[in-house]
Amino acid sequence: MTLPELSAAFQAMGLPGYRTEQVFRWLGRGAGSFEEMTDLSKQLRAQLSEAFRLTALVRLRRQISKLDGTEKFLWALPDGESVETVLMRYKHGNTVCISSQVGCRMGCAFCASTIGGKVRDLTAAEMLDEVIRTGVEAGCRVDGIVLMGIGEPLDNFDNVVRFLTLVNDPDGANIGMRHISLSTCGLVDAIDKLAALRLQLTLSVSLHAPDDETRSRLMPVNARYGVDQVYAACERYFRTTGRRVSYEYALVRDVNDTPWHARELVRRLRGTGSHVNLIRLNYVSERGLMPSSEDTVRTFTKILVDGGVTATVRRRLGSDIDAACGQLRRGEMRKL
Ligand code: SAH
Repeated sequence: MTLPELSAAFQAMGLPGYRTEQVFRWLGRGAGSFEEMTDLSKQLRAQLSEAFRLTALVRLRRQISKLDGTEKFLWALPDGESVETVLMRYKHGNTVCISSQVGCRMGCAFCASTIGGKVRDLTAAEMLDEVIRTGVEAGCRVDGIVLMGIGEPLDNFDNVVRFLTLVNDPDGANIGMRHISLSTCGLVDAIDKLAALRLQLTLSVSLHAPDDETRSRLMPVNARYGVDQVYAACERYFRTTGRRVSYEYALVRDVNDTPWHARELVRRLRGTGSHVNLIRLNYVSERGLMPSSEDTVRTFTKILVDGGVTATVRRRLGSDIDAACGQLRRGEMRKL
């Protein structure tokens, strides 16, 4: 609930106005039950426990990387489904990578999350709880969020926008929009809808190929919105919001990692000021695609940088705990 919604509910129960902010602050700080709200009377706590449910997630598993302290949580949802959240510890703060759907229907050829299709959208409450419960269970402050876990956030538009409003609330979790990144496979209509909201978050677009032929091999969504449309939507997004779009590019051996692809990417992106995040493909056994060699990654990066396109290779975190893209949920499903 947003603050106004909670306020209306409390009013309907005949509670005084100041209770709303009191409870809302507890929620933002991660209270898991009304019992913890020690400045409320016992009777009020009992009354609220009857009327509301506070948490949406129950922890199934927690894995901690011995290599870099990255943590991965697998959560059970109220209907028995499961999703995962990753906590990454950087020098500049803690970032939580959250899921936006149970499964995904986008069908990207390299991705583990899409293998069983989409089961359902996550609610705003479930996404908010991914952020809050991760902070509570890991015992740390959450400084930033990336919507790069399971699911296509723009395929769950209304819930995601509601989640962003909630998590951004200064009386709630209070995470600034500039500390939030949303990653999309390139749903052009939804990118325009998001631009119109003028949120100051960072939009990342999963490009993975500079041309239609290659991109269509990797991403079925390219049949609906081709690369020209995606580039144009990113331009519009920048003009409307003043925020440059960044691109994600997972290097897949012999598919999108040749010098030709790098040069083509330079041709399309030079002068746009866009940043390219190069990702080493995480091998997913069901998918059969291989990561590029380190030499190829280096050559590819050099062509981009020499061509005037800023590019960095994403650090690999949590590789000992299956911390990438739907791998933990897949592992659990295989065991069932
Ligand atoms: N659906 C959204 C966000 C979730 S995926 C999107 O497509 O952007 C987050 C990023 O991980 C995307 O760039 C996605 O293409 C990438 N990804 C998926 N599977 C991967 C894999 N096996 N190795 C490397 N990156 C992968």
